[in-house]
Amino acid sequence: MIIDSHAHLNDEKLFPLAEEIHAGLEKNGLSAVVNVGYDEESCLKCVALAEQYRKFYAVVGMHPHDSRLADNAFYDLITRLAQGKKVLAIGEIGLDYYYDLSPRETQKKVFLEQLELARALKLPSVVHLRDAYGDMYKLLKENRPLLEYGFLLHCYSGSKEMLSEFAKMGAYFSFGGAVTFKNAVDKPDVVRSAPTDRILLETDCPYMTPVPFRGKPNRPEYIVYTAEKIASFLGKDREEIEDITLKNTKEFFKKINDSL
Ligand SMILES: [Zn+2]
Ligand SMILES: [Zn+2]
Repeated sequence: MIIDSHAHLNDEKLFPLAEEIHAGLEKNGLSAVVNVGYDEESCLKCVALAEQYRKFYAVVGMHPHDSRLADNAFYDLITRLAQGKKVLAIGEIGLDYYYDLSPRETQKKVFLEQLELARALKLPSVVHLRDAYGDMYKLLKENRPLLEYGFLLHCYSGSKEMLSEFAKMGAYFSFGGAVTFKNAVDKPDVVRSAPTDRILLETDCPYMTPVPFRGKPNRPEYIVYTAEKIASFLGKDREEIEDITLKNTKEFFKKINDSL
């Protein structure tokens, strides 16, 4: 069985399908889906989904794209939501210099504020990182105590060299549909360089749809194609990868139901 460690069923493309997706999880080899918020509305929706459906969990935080919107009212909201039994982590938080939708200084400040919040709440952090490897490394290095409850670099797309540096700080890494793309020539080496006991699987649905469904909105059940690819990179069976990543996911998200 697989846990989709990063999904956005709150998204308007998938939200109307939430019931159907939840009902089909077991048949599709999934034991749970973690829906990740990125602003006020999405956090509320992810938590509502977790309250309504047994196998859905939530993560709450402000994405770097919208970090200029993170005010005290938002922090109060996620602090309150994070008390919920099924809210597993603070995220997705981080840095995105590819789109630069919020000023970089604001992104850094809000990222650090949310790392502090995660530590105060004794929760791990789910980190979004794009085109900001140097600054991310520096910020994490200077703020190691804030990583006490663990951090996950989701949809990791950096180099194997940077991966090793983050791994030394205790990072977990999740991989998604991008590993199946034809142009992903460096992916096998990157995945192989990650410590096996710190790899998770994700879809990031409705984005990052794996081959052979590219062009369609992604869905949690397509995660098997990513699992298959990771297994081939590591020379293991898909079942073995499922067991390893399931164990890692439960280890990282300590609040998740241990019976999954
Ligand atoms: Zn992300
Ligand atoms: Zn995401």
